[in-house]
Amino acid sequence: MARTLDHVEMDKIVSLCKRRGFIFQSSEIYGGLASTYDYGPLGIELKRNVRDAWWKRFIQDRDDMVGIESAILMHPKVWVASGHADTFTDPLVECKACHHRFRADHIDSQTCPNCGGELTEARNFNLMFKTNIGPVEDTASQTYLRPETAQGIFVNFQNVLTATRKRLPFGIGQIGKSFRNEITTGNFTFRTREFEQMEIEFFVKPGTDEEWHQKWIDLFMQWFIDLGVREEKLRLRPHAQEELSHYAKATSDIEYSFAWGWGELMGIANRTDFDLKAHTQHSGVRLDYFDDEIEDPDQKHYTPYVVEPALGVDRALLVFLFDSYDEETIEGDTRVVLHLNPAIAPIKVAVLPLSRNARLVPKAREVYDLVRSRFVAQYDDAQSIGRRYRRQDEIGTPLAVTVDFQTLDDDNAVTIRNRDTMQQIRVPIPELVDTLAECLGNSW
Ligand code: ATP
Repeated sequence: MARTLDHVEMDKIVSLCKRRGFIFQSSEIYGGLASTYDYGPLGIELKRNVRDAWWKRFIQDRDDMVGIESAILMHPKVWVASGHADTFTDPLVECKACHHRFRADHIDSQTCPNCGGELTEARNFNLMFKTNIGPVEDTASQTYLRPETAQGIFVNFQNVLTATRKRLPFGIGQIGKSFRNEITTGNFTFRTREFEQMEIEFFVKPGTDEEWHQKWIDLFMQWFIDLGVREEKLRLRPHAQEELSHYAKATSDIEYSFAWGWGELMGIANRTDFDLKAHTQHSGVRLDYFDDEIEDPDQKHYTPYVVEPALGVDRALLVFLFDSYDEETIEGDTRVVLHLNPAIAPIKVAVLPLSRNARLVPKAREVYDLVRSRFVAQYDDAQSIGRRYRRQDEIGTPLAVTVDFQTLDDDNAVTIRNRDTMQQIRVPIPELVDTLAECLGNSW
């Protein structure tokens, strides 16, 4: 639906997130840890819904997909084979005067953007966090916190193939934490050092990879649109040849138009057979595919190509917040509202007695129990009903059920108020749950 605000400034989102318990600065009572964040009670509900929406659409609703959850710590040779040990670097420059550090490819000027001072030569800085396994901190015990979830999928390729007997094309998806020692962070949760990824490795027969690359781009564009992101705020940006990662034949980013400009929401890469071949070479275990539909015995064994749609949970969540936020003027009053799609809204239904009147409360509690048996719901009886509607609008609750004196004395019915239209309908309590499900779109 149309918004009053075209672009939302970051400080509005940050302030709402803190005020209402979506996202907090990590370790805040100690002054905070730079660019690290904690999800509060509403934030974690929203995050779980984003993960669930992804998992349902791309894993559970598809016959050609399965899920996996691999460990964050992996054998250090994984990162040698994948190329991360050598090439997962960003060019780092430092200001000789103020010692601020920047990613050379993120700044336009030859001088320090902070103070105008002279910058050092760029040096390659590896983004992987090192850690040690066991009590001895020597290089033999050294490994890394994974910088992407993808490698946990590649090293399990043969395990999954054998266990599931899947045939090409098929994919493996997983959701989990990744860590990158980013040189520059910022823009709230847009770029952090610890974040969560939802990644798919979709294995295809070589020669069909370009077609599948396009299919996955379309599938993800549609997913964002289905979850309510306005189409005009999304665009596709194919990478130029010199920008491609060491493993990629082609990559396209889906970008979102933030207040500060277009920013990457996700990347969809054609990784070719790079990873499976690299792990075959380094591990000595053949990660290939036996295609019984091919007649020629010399052609039956081959290494699949892979298309990778990679999306950050935190970044997707940020886009859902930005895109759904609005400030509307109603009868001279401003209401802040999150027009979140019901499938991802943290609270689906609020149950509100008209007041704290002793007669109303037991009935309202009864209605609350009924509603929460089916939906994530919240009961609120503090302050005026108008304020309570505003509080629910601000956290994106799609529906509010109000219990009033008419419910008790007259019709055993309640009012359902729609967050977006603010229209109300009266529904008999025995029909309430089904009507709510219908209003919410029956989608979860
Ligand atoms: P960049 O070039 O901006 O550093 P990237 O292109 O290397 O990022 P990918 O490796 O393609 O990023 O990561 C896939 C997705 O994971 C990104 O599109 C983003 O949604 C998410 N992501 C990557 N790095 C971060 C981060 N530091 N913080 C939050 N999300 C991230």
